[in-house]
Amino acid sequence: MSFMDAREHGSKIGGGGVASASQGAVDRRERLRRLALETIDLAKDPYFMRNHLGSYECKLCLTMHANEGNYLAHTQGKRHQQNLAKRAARDAKDADASFGKSKTATIQPRKTMKIGRPGYRVTKQYDRRTRQRSLLFQVDYPERELGTKPRYRFMSAYEQKVEAWDKRYQYVLFACEPYETIGFKIPNVDVDKAGRDKFFTHWDEDVKTYTCQLTFRRVDGDGAPRGGGMPRGGIPPPPMVGGLPPPPPPPVR
Ligand SMILES: [Zn+2]
Repeated sequence: MSFMDAREHGSKIGGGGVASASQGAVDRRERLRRLALETIDLAKDPYFMRNHLGSYECKLCLTMHANEGNYLAHTQGKRHQQNLAKRAARDAKDADASFGKSKTATIQPRKTMKIGRPGYRVTKQYDRRTRQRSLLFQVDYPERELGTKPRYRFMSAYEQKVEAWDKRYQYVLFACEPYETIGFKIPNVDVDKAGRDKFFTHWDEDVKTYTCQLTFRRVDGDGAPRGGGMPRGGIPPPPMVGGLPPPPPPPVR
């Protein structure tokens, strides 16, 4: 669940309790709450199964139960607990055996709770001497996860799935756990990596700011990038958030 979702749900909860609620209503709410908790637990329980006869089975112990209450009672019993312990021991052994064998195992994407977009600044620069344009990105990651470093990556118009394809642009993305990845639309012009004055990234641990400077290769006489140059207004549009669906088409008149 993203941060936005969490907030939306949160706003619906606790909308002012009724102080004069009768004890009966409180009891009823409590019963419903417990029922909901049990339902959620059962839904997550990999061994809980409702069979075609309408009764319930424990797939671990291969036992039958008349109702959910009986099943829940069974899960607290000795037999189920012992079988759980045996299963856990076997899983641990399997995990040991496979560990280190497959060095090419696919890396699972990390599922951390995202804490929102980072703050950022974008500065347009122009070098009169070389007549090259450059962009300076500064992204703030004050709550950066320990052990992670901010990183950047370029993405072609065809690779991204957020906006309509436009070959005049490419994107530069900045990522750092647990922040949402942000991307900026930049002209699709070669980035000059000839030296540190042209292209560099820098993580400042003291102020927790990631800096990235991109210098565009000069493509014609005046140094203006081909294909219209900077987006309208001269400033890159606000960042897009990875994974969002494309915006809906504009309304028809
Ligand atoms: Zn069982």
